[in-house]
Amino acid sequence: DFAREEDLQTLLGWADKVRKLGVWANADYPRDAQRAVAFGAEGIGLCRTEHMFMEQERLPIVQKMILARNPEERQAALDQLLPFQRSDFKGIFSAMVSPTTGEGYPVVIRLIDPPLHEFLPSYEELLVEVTRLETQGGHEAELQEKKTMLEAVGSMREMNPMLGLRGCRLGLLFPEINIMQTRAILEAAAELAREGKKLQPKIMIPLVGHVNELREVRRQLEGVAAEIARESGGAIAYKFGTMIEVPRAAVTADQIAPVSDFFSFGTNDLTQTTFGYSRDDAEGKFLLKYVDGLDVPGQRDKVKILPANPFQTLDREGVGQLVAMAVAKGRHTNKDIELGICGEHGGDPESIAFCHQVGLDYVSCSPFRVPVARLAAAQAALHQSERDK
Ligand code: PEP
Ligand code: MG
Repeated sequence: DFAREEDLQTLLGWADKVRKLGVWANADYPRDAQRAVAFGAEGIGLCRTEHMFMEQERLPIVQKMILARNPEERQAALDQLLPFQRSDFKGIFSAMVSPTTGEGYPVVIRLIDPPLHEFLPSYEELLVEVTRLETQGGHEAELQEKKTMLEAVGSMREMNPMLGLRGCRLGLLFPEINIMQTRAILEAAAELAREGKKLQPKIMIPLVGHVNELREVRRQLEGVAAEIARESGGAIAYKFGTMIEVPRAAVTADQIAPVSDFFSFGTNDLTQTTFGYSRDDAEGKFLLKYVDGLDVPGQRDKVKILPANPFQTLDREGVGQLVAMAVAKGRHTNKDIELGICGEHGGDPESIAFCHQVGLDYVSCSPFRVPVARLAAAQAALHQSERDK
């Protein structure tokens, strides 16, 4: 009710005065960004662009891009995708600009992080379809089309797509994809800047494991930015950064930091890759038993292995040590680096306490978790000042 809502707002206001951590939100669409701002988010810490490629009217174009037989075909598909992406980014930037002052909150846009198979029809379904058409006869053109698709999809099958052509690797093999997305981001920013809006676009690269990957992507992006600056008569300010979501990136953070304006810890993947558990399967299969113990009297303690589900509460001993190491190494070689987290842990109070202790600048979580994150960040700051007394 209204009185309680007012009390909650007062409490959140107090929390905002004491917390040191910024609280941002993960949002892929303008409506999520608006919701995030309403809950008090001070930026978008992760906009996952691959979801945009899934939209119904675009999916056939995306498939053409993936299955293109030559660079010309791929470029033609990308040219069709560019206006969609430009309007996606205009939408999300606009949602993060104050209507009164024109000041924009930071918005971190992550370049596409596939596994590609998510955009393609399944090999098994295509095979069934081809067999059906062959048996029926009389559908030559359709059969030929499905066969070509089957062959192309077959050639892209991976034994373990989550460890396959994912993250920055896609844009390194096909730079024109990164170039299209960067162009869309900077053109959207340039259009809004002409309307007097002050934007803070940040471009983030997923699943980097080696500094050379990041150097190469940075080179691609700087080329696009220079081109757009020439076309629009002025440079668009943007920041360039990376996710830290595989152990190698954390361990070599001192090499990666000089190439990055910011790090964002992708603790979903960092947990997956540190434990070697599949984030898609572990929770549904063995993890529950590892955390809670078997639901059999007398057997519980024999099976319980972990104090908490590491996909929900950041595992301080393992994943947390990697985060702490990357923070220290990152700040050592780039004192201005901005550090945040955008894995699910960014909305979990216990993990937020850890983020405060380790010295991150902000946490980013789902819009609905923003109020709790604001309170948890304040609590972490208060505990710290108690300890410092
Ligand atoms: C992560 O891995 O923590 C992350 C935020 O990226 P995604 O969940 O999209 O893989
Ligand atoms: Mg990830």
